[in-house]
This record gives sequence, C-alpha cells and structure tokens, in this order.
Amino acid sequence: MTTPAQSKSNEWKLVIHGGAGAIERKSTTPDKDKAVRAGLSRALEAGEKILAAGGKALDAVEAAVVVLEDDPNFNAGRGSVFTFDGAHELDASIMDGATRAAGAVTGAKTTKSPIRLARAVMEDSPHVLLSREGADEFAKSQGLEQVPNDYFSTPERRKQLQDMKSKNLSALVVEYKYGTVGAVALDAHGHVAAAPSTGGMTGKRWGRIGDSPLIGAGTYADDRGCAVSGTGWGEYFIRASVAHEICARMRLSGDNAQVAADAVLAEVKALGGEGGVIVVTPKGETAYSFNSAGMYRGTATKAGRSVAVYGDEGER
Ligand code: ASP
Repeated sequence: MTTPAQSKSNEWKLVIHGGAGAIERKSTTPDKDKAVRAGLSRALEAGEKILAAGGKALDAVEAAVVVLEDDPNFNAGRGSVFTFDGAHELDASIMDGATRAAGAVTGAKTTKSPIRLARAVMEDSPHVLLSREGADEFAKSQGLEQVPNDYFSTPERRKQLQDMKSKNLSALVVEYKYGTVGAVALDAHGHVAAAPSTGGMTGKRWGRIGDSPLIGAGTYADDRGCAVSGTGWGEYFIRASVAHEICARMRLSGDNAQVAADAVLAEVKALGGEGGVIVVTPKGETAYSFNSAGMYRGTATKAGRSVAVYGDEGER
C-alpha cells in the first residue's frame, strides 16, 4: 500500500468542466454565456462547501456534478443530448483516488442523477460498470429518484437533433458534439477523486458508449498520480486511454500535471480527436488542457473561485 502524498498545508482544490468544443464568442449569446458561468459557479460552490469543511473529495465531485446535471445548459442529466431515436441515454462514472474504487453506468434512461447512481454502483454493488435497464433497476433498488426519460429533454437539444438529421450530418459534427460535465477534487486529507456525467453525443445510435463511463478513458483517480475528467470525442479518448495515461505519465515518468495532460491531448489530436481534460494532483497541482476552441471550466481554492468559457481566457 502506498501512502498518499499529503496535500501542501491541507489545501483543497476543485476543478470542474462543462464540456469542450466549438465554444466561441461569435456563436454564444450573452444570455447563454451568463447562464453557463452562473451554472459553473453554483457547481463550484456546492463542492467547495464540502472541501472547505474538511469533507471528502469524493463527496465534493459528486455534489458539483449533481448541480451541473440539474442545469439544462449542460449535456448531462436534464439538458442531455438526444440519441438518434429521440431519447436520452446517460453515462457517468466516479472514482476514489484513495482506494481506486470506481463505479459507472452507461445508457441509464430513468435515473435522475446518473452520478449518484455511479456512486451507488461503487459503494453498494460488487460491480464497477452497469448498463441500460439493469443500471436503472439497480438505481430503483437503491431508492434513487426515477423520472420519465423526457425529463431530460430541452428544446435546444431537440433542435440540435433535428438539425443534424435534416442536414444529414453525422453524429460527429463538431457543433453538436460535446458537453460532458465533470469534476476533480483534492481534499484537505490529500485524497483525490474524479467524476464525469454526460448525455454522450447527439444522434448516437446502436447503444453507443463513450469514454465518460469507462474508467481509464474519461475518468481516473489515483492518489499516486492525479484525478482526471475528460470531455470530447469519446472514441478517441477511449483509444488513447486518456485519463489513465495522464495518471500513468505522472506516476511513472514524473511529468507534472500540465505536461502530462498536454502530451496526452496532443496524442488525441494526432489521432484526429478533439476535447479537453481537467486534472488535480495530491500535491495540489491543477491543470486544464484542451485542443478545442473552448471549454466550460472553473476552479475553486481557498483563494477564491474562477470560471472561464473561451480558449483565450486564463490558462488552458
Ligand atoms: N466524451 C463524451 C462522449 O463521447 C461527449 C462529451 O464530452 O460531451 O460521450
């Protein structure tokens, strides 16, 4: 057993994302810009309350993601993209860096909070990944709130599906592609955790599964390295094992968080993919890295809270 590196002076950190993609000033209305920043701030506030009180990174990432799932501006929970057949199939995962315990769900249709369900899979089942009807059945058995599938629908997302179909576009057209939410945190005890949640990609078919529910692809947490949550073109994140690869580089090559994240995102790009990641380490490093035009993102520390949307704001 390795002892986790203690965070410096018991500092805590929380980093969140609300999706990466073709997010540019010219295509974002002032109202949308405001709503997204407010949503990110609310999510940071929810997680930061827990961390500032000495709570666990695991609880903080879950709390932050629940806020983003409930916010229709993000592609997770309410506001999730539509599948090709006009429904919603939700994916989420959570991982505890202290124990490397993990839980995940794919294709959930009636569970209001997929991230809560992922946590229940981790803590109350002997499994790591549950799918579709089975995942919702398990949620019911755990008393997790159930909703009709159209609870997740919003007019904006329906229009994106209609546009995609009327223009005969593929599910991989950039504008409609990303929006996964996620959080990574370091708590005052030196432990890290990660948690993404998503509706996946507009127009996805045939039970397609992205990177978000796959431990090692869209999420990973290991106190010996870092915690990572990704957003982007899931197929490439799976092929590059993005989240685990970032942690492995840090653990085995001694890369810092930014170097490791940039290197793995460069690999994604070289393969033809696009997206971004957020990273936090037990030593208190944080990093964003993305190769898309923008990424909804935010950080909270003892020193304060900041949110950003476009590529030219703050660090990337
Ligand atoms: N990575 C997600 C997926 O491929 C999409 C996203 O980040 O919005 O399902």
